Amino acid sequence: MSTEPITVAPSAATGSDPALLEVEGLNVSYGHVRAVRGVSFSVAEHSGMGIIGANGAGKTSTLKALLRLIPAQVERVEFDGRSLVGRKPHRIVELGIGYVPEGRHVFPGLSVRKNLLLGAYRHRWDDAVQGRLDRIHDLFPVLKQFDKRLAGALSGGQQQMLAIGRALMSDPRLLVLDEPSMGLAPVIVDEIVEALGELRRVGMSILLVEQNAKVTFALTDYCQVLSNGRQVKHGSSAELRQDPEIRRIYLGI
Ligand code: ATP
Repeated sequence: MSTEPITVAPSAATGSDPALLEVEGLNVSYGHVRAVRGVSFSVAEHSGMGIIGANGAGKTSTLKALLRLIPAQVERVEFDGRSLVGRKPHRIVELGIGYVPEGRHVFPGLSVRKNLLLGAYRHRWDDAVQGRLDRIHDLFPVLKQFDKRLAGALSGGQQQMLAIGRALMSDPRLLVLDEPSMGLAPVIVDEIVEALGELRRVGMSILLVEQNAKVTFALTDYCQVLSNGRQVKHGSSAELRQDPEIRRIYLGI
């Protein structure tokens, strides 16, 4: 992680935006392992919500459960007023949630361009899709430069940019990101934070899970802290950034 402070992105949130995603009483178990226990939170339109926690805290399980990629028990999970219970993951994407999975999962044998176009699979090619591709190229110029290169030949940071770009191609209202800073050099993390900050400035809502609290505080308005599957703290990112325990555990200061 860079020792220089990451610039805090000004948020487009007004503080009175309606809830876009609402989650109540989420539980995930793997056999006898209770990975997520009664997690509840909401993400307002145009806002950023962060979930920070150490390895194994339950962050990925929370996201996968929301997207119905793994079985879960939940009292309520709604996106834009519509329940996600019983919906297939691809239908959830169609509702307007873009997902950037942990470890990127780009298609290594396909070109950068084809990976991006796969993100827009539900759209017919038109000016709107072209416009989205142009904006992604503006956000991450390297994806334009390496348009024809196989995704497997990209660096880790470039693959992370590609995974974000692919999710943006579905034109989401909420971008869900699982540890986008993981395993990347600080200078690349800064580039990704800058791009995500730009998305926040133009009103994109994000749900970000991270071990990197510095990145999370820079990009979100509110945060949850997960430990052993439970929410142990929550508050505004500005408040949590000043919390002595958080500073000690997650910021090392
Ligand atoms: P990381 O930062 O390492 O990705 P995380 O906060 O995302 O961690 P999860 O991956 O959600 O945490 O894991 C939460 C708990 O569930 C951990 O104890 C983990 O070992 C366990 N777990 C996760 N996936 C499985 C699985 N497929 N089968 C059994 N246990 C699992």
